Amino acid sequence: MSTTLTSQVYWHQSQVNQQNRANLNGHRGCTIWLTGLSGSGKSTIANALDQRLYEMGTHNYVLDGDNVRHGLNKDLGFSEADRRENIRRIGEVSKLMVDAGLIVMTAFISPYQSDRQLVRQLLDEEAFIEVYVQCPLSECEKRDPKGLYRKARKGEIQQFTGISAPYEAPVNPEIVIETDKVSVAEAVEQIVTYLNNQEILRTEGKV
Ligand code: ADP
Repeated sequence: MSTTLTSQVYWHQSQVNQQNRANLNGHRGCTIWLTGLSGSGKSTIANALDQRLYEMGTHNYVLDGDNVRHGLNKDLGFSEADRRENIRRIGEVSKLMVDAGLIVMTAFISPYQSDRQLVRQLLDEEAFIEVYVQCPLSECEKRDPKGLYRKARKGEIQQFTGISAPYEAPVNPEIVIETDKVSVAEAVEQIVTYLNNQEILRTEGKV
């Protein structure tokens, strides 16, 4: 019989620590957690930021719905419990990636404050950067890049955030981006400026 009690499993501290990895990479690891309604611009901003950071020579990865729900979380649906588990697993994966020294960008609606709080608590304080991708529902619905709002309005999708399921806006996010007011390029610069100010991207001296 196998034993899976976590009390009998110990975290192995690598001899290569986060500071060593930061020195090697020229930047620190962190999770940039984008949250907002469907169509608010999370994926668009995450991918544009990924490109911008890549050109600056950093080590990044974007975690988004498709690359996670098709694999790691393919057993999960969209009930409240499954949404929570989806976010919890993404949080754990991003924690490992940050430990590996990466800048992780996540693009999930992540509608519940308590779930985002749980992920925040998994990570070191300065390593969790909550970005509220704010956009009025009416504008998201007008954009409707995947046609999901149209389907939700017709009742073809159940529990759709903003229509038939709640979205809890962040209480105290590190960054707010109003995508009905700023361009994608401006949104990216807003985040890059924050990373510079927090000395996450400093490539000289202390990182
Ligand atoms: P989400 O990942 O939040 O569901 P997407 O990034 O898939 O949203 O879609 C957002 C849509 O809004 C895209 O078609 C994008 O081109 C458009 N868009 C318009 N203005 C902006 C902006 N300022 N920031 C991000 N996306 C924008």
